[in-house]
Amino acid sequence: SLGSSREKNGRRILVFVRARPLTKKETETGARCCVRIMDRRDVYLTEFAAEKDYLRLKRLRGRHFTFDASFPHSATQQEVYSATTSELVEAVLQGRNGSVFCYGATGAGKTYTMLGTVENPGVMVLAIKHLFSKIRMRSCDGNHAIHLSYLEVYNETVRDLLSPGKPLVLREDKQGIVAAGLTQYRAYSTDEVMALLQQGNQNRTTEPTRANETSSRSHAILQVLVEYRVRDGAMNINKMGKLSLIDLAGSERALATDQRTIRSLEGANINRSLLALSSCINALVEGKKHIPYRNSKLTQLLKDSLGGSCNTVMIANISPSNLSFGETQNTLHWADRAK
Ligand code: ADP
Ligand code: MG
Repeated sequence: SLGSSREKNGRRILVFVRARPLTKKETETGARCCVRIMDRRDVYLTEFAAEKDYLRLKRLRGRHFTFDASFPHSATQQEVYSATTSELVEAVLQGRNGSVFCYGATGAGKTYTMLGTVENPGVMVLAIKHLFSKIRMRSCDGNHAIHLSYLEVYNETVRDLLSPGKPLVLREDKQGIVAAGLTQYRAYSTDEVMALLQQGNQNRTTEPTRANETSSRSHAILQVLVEYRVRDGAMNINKMGKLSLIDLAGSERALATDQRTIRSLEGANINRSLLALSSCINALVEGKKHIPYRNSKLTQLLKDSLGGSCNTVMIANISPSNLSFGETQNTLHWADRAK
């Protein structure tokens, strides 16, 4: 099972790939599917030579990648949740921190995977639902408290998505690095959570890059803090576990637009956070002693949820369209290095 391979390899990061379906618009404009997923593990990427007549697209060359699991467009939210995040939730209830990232280009399906829709809730909502059902199964649910905070890192500035306003300052205290004044929302049931997160998601900083598109250049981080009491002989001991669920900013290069200066400034900072995350992940995977958490706001915030005895999961989201071939290839290479 995935659990035993994680135990065997210690700090290993579990890496998953999820391909979304072609959108209606993509199908209508003649996009072809260039991603094939076999045996729930292998991803085959095919490059087509686009000729004037796109109906005669020619297959050029293929590449093949293997991950802990790969999800085709038909995979359900529940399947993705169960394979990627479910074990981390169980670990959080044992006091082990964990983090789940969605990485990929804008439009690849990160927010769908993390947040989802009311009809098809994603990892964030399913994790909280799972937590509540686990807690109810333990007889002493009066001893548990779940707090949510939802924040973004945009342009190396930290903001509270549950209470938008002034940027938050990061401080180091005895618990680690905390965002001063961040809302800690006490959750009592799953029902309220989707609306709360959707509202928070709308507070994310987005800017139009093209006429009818918005491109998110912000990283959204949901932190789920579970506090509970366990009996040890005659003593009650307070314990804590934290799960961080991160919808990363688009990994594509800054587009050349009329807002070029803003873009490139933001691009530099987004690259800083993504670059810092990549450096931390590479250092963890290589078993280095020094992990460069200090290099960005994102990695500072995640210091206690990444590495050490924490569980880390990466979900790389890809578009199946041949028009996104370049981005998909970049994402798969990035994910391959995180293994
Ligand atoms: P990102 O957050 O990476 O920019 P989105 O999650 O917003 O991308 O996805 C882009 C579009 O594709 C959205 O309209 C979304 O609803 C749709 N989509 C993404 N993944 C899936 C999926 N697995 N199944 C169905 N629709 C999806
Ligand atoms: Mg998004």
